[in-house]
Amino acid sequence: MKKLVDLILIGAPGSGKGSQSLKIKEKFGYRHLSTGDMLRAEVAKGSELGKHVAEIINSGRLVSDELVLSLLKLNCNSEDSFLFDGFPRNLLQAKMLQDEIFKKLNRDSLALYFKVNNEDLISRIVNRRTCKNCGTIFNLITKPSSNGDYCDNCDSTDKLSHRADDNEEVVRGRLNIFDSESKPLLDYYANLGKLKIVDASMSEEKLFGEISRLIN
Ligand code: AMP
Repeated sequence: MKKLVDLILIGAPGSGKGSQSLKIKEKFGYRHLSTGDMLRAEVAKGSELGKHVAEIINSGRLVSDELVLSLLKLNCNSEDSFLFDGFPRNLLQAKMLQDEIFKKLNRDSLALYFKVNNEDLISRIVNRRTCKNCGTIFNLITKPSSNGDYCDNCDSTDKLSHRADDNEEVVRGRLNIFDSESKPLLDYYANLGKLKIVDASMSEEKLFGEISRLIN
């Protein structure tokens, strides 16, 4: 099978990284590495570490680089092509990824920036609902489940969940953090000649077509 370059998805919360990751993983067989999912799994364990992480996530701040890096390293030892979703979030994480993983393991990468304007992002996020069982992401307005409050993609009997950090006040803070911490990544990857920008305001299907074209 053709070896694909590792992908780094950069985008503000609600820009569609999670939904596209599921599609990319399914079609191309990438190993999906979402640091947000890893952290939420830690929260679900209810451990002391999980409680600490929950407090940070719910306030919209970023978790420490050390913690994210250690979780990531635990999940990163594989021959697969990696799909980084939500990592790196700042320059320090990007440099570590470049030096410790890509250079050492002689891997090539491509960063995709999901560009969407902030008002669209806020509306997307406050209406976002997720199936905790299969991971499908819905939107109450643009992509409702045909099964009401329940998932129409699997037979889970749990209601679709609304993330505690998906309310407007927290989201505005998360968008500010994206602008100050994560936007510098665009120059970083552009200087490495590894950045592509996609218009993520288009429909999920069209966007997936565009991404498939870029990575194939
Ligand atoms: P996400 O699911 O990517 O939107 O991440 C949810 C939350 O998890 C973020 O708001 C941060 O609190 C935390 N988080 C996820 N990825 C990282 C990361 N790479 N560095 C620091 N915090 C992160």
